[in-house]
Amino acid sequence: MTQPSSGDNAGRNFLSVADARGLVLDALATIEGWECVAVRAALDRVLARDLIAPFNVPAYDNSAMDGYAVRSADLANAGDTALTLVGTAFAGHPFSGTLGAAQAVRIMTGAEIPYGADAVVMQEVVRCEHDQVHIPAGQKKGQNLRSAGEDLAVGSIALAAGTRCGPAELGLIASLGLGEVFVRHRLRVAFFSTGDEIASIGQPLAAGQVYDSNRYTLFGVLYRLGCEVLDMGVVADEPAALEAAFRDASNAADVIITSGGVSVGEADFIRDMMARMGEVSFWKLAIKPGRPMAFGRIGNAVLFGLPGNPVAVMVTFYQFVQDALLKMMGVSPLPQAVLFPARADFSLRKRPGRIEYLRCRLVREAGELTVSIAGAQGSGVLRSMSEANCFVVLPEDCSAVQPGDTVLAQPFNGLV
Ligand code: AMP
Ligand code: MG
Repeated sequence: MTQPSSGDNAGRNFLSVADARGLVLDALATIEGWECVAVRAALDRVLARDLIAPFNVPAYDNSAMDGYAVRSADLANAGDTALTLVGTAFAGHPFSGTLGAAQAVRIMTGAEIPYGADAVVMQEVVRCEHDQVHIPAGQKKGQNLRSAGEDLAVGSIALAAGTRCGPAELGLIASLGLGEVFVRHRLRVAFFSTGDEIASIGQPLAAGQVYDSNRYTLFGVLYRLGCEVLDMGVVADEPAALEAAFRDASNAADVIITSGGVSVGEADFIRDMMARMGEVSFWKLAIKPGRPMAFGRIGNAVLFGLPGNPVAVMVTFYQFVQDALLKMMGVSPLPQAVLFPARADFSLRKRPGRIEYLRCRLVREAGELTVSIAGAQGSGVLRSMSEANCFVVLPEDCSAVQPGDTVLAQPFNGLV
């Protein structure tokens, strides 16, 4: 399928991260199929249809304050105006009459504005005497009112198809009185780790072996994205086992993610296997950590062959795979990464030619965003990934960072 253009990077024929992202996104389409789910079950799901407001939200004009509902035309331009108190409007218990000349109604926040009233005066500025309220001058027509339809007008698009539902969206759906919504099918993602040296937890660790961590980081990121995850375990560097794993994965899932075996090494049969079983391109990316990557199709499934090193897996996942999966899930528009300029408190030498993702800690000190290095930066060192709260993204042409330089930080976590 996708062949990289002959991107030349520092003369080494590396594909830039931006070009690779473009190729990946262009090659993928949103999966078919939707279902109807209850509101709570829509959390992290993607709306399959526009959600149209069936009525105005709020449904009626109501008070934004505790105070007094008045007719602004009754009020004098200077000095106090005495109005007669004729009733009370509570939230859920409206005042049923009409406000006449020189009358006021005590009103609570959220209560419907009585017919005839056109302003609410906050209670703190009002003086009460028996059944009279004294309203100071300077009140404006329409003040402290929340108008019907101010949040959403009837017939308007409350949430567009392609919206991924977070807590705010669940609340909005509920505010429209809707018990169910149409969401796209979950994306099915199968993943496995490759390598003879990779042991699964529960097994004793033999000499020369490492425990599999990639399947756990991948589980974490995929689960959070709202994918249906199929953990296929560890597959040895052995042709028959790999072939069976690819076949099973491509039958069961929309996407296959593997880790390991894509670098050019003797034992990495997986490259050959991928190439034989589907249409797969092997990329040398101008990225650190995470230089090699495979992308293509096996059967009906999209394949991402990620490098084996645990941090390289996470970096390539966040920089390539995540948006690709969001696109396949039907998310539109794709979220834009927000990068914050921050002051580096470290010095670092870098070879130009590759974009580099540093694991860093972003803090605000004396009113200024500052980043410091979070531990050793080797591409197998997961601990620094855990200690970090952001990537610092050094562009390809950067050759050094000095303390005090402004760099760009990409936080790991957002709110909502
Ligand atoms: P590879 O890309 O297969 O050459 O692997 C690169 C490095 O990552 C090697 O040191 C592997 O042992 C290590 N590695 C590969 N897969 C995993 C995994 N699932 N968990 C932890 N380390 C891994
Ligand atoms: Mg390997």
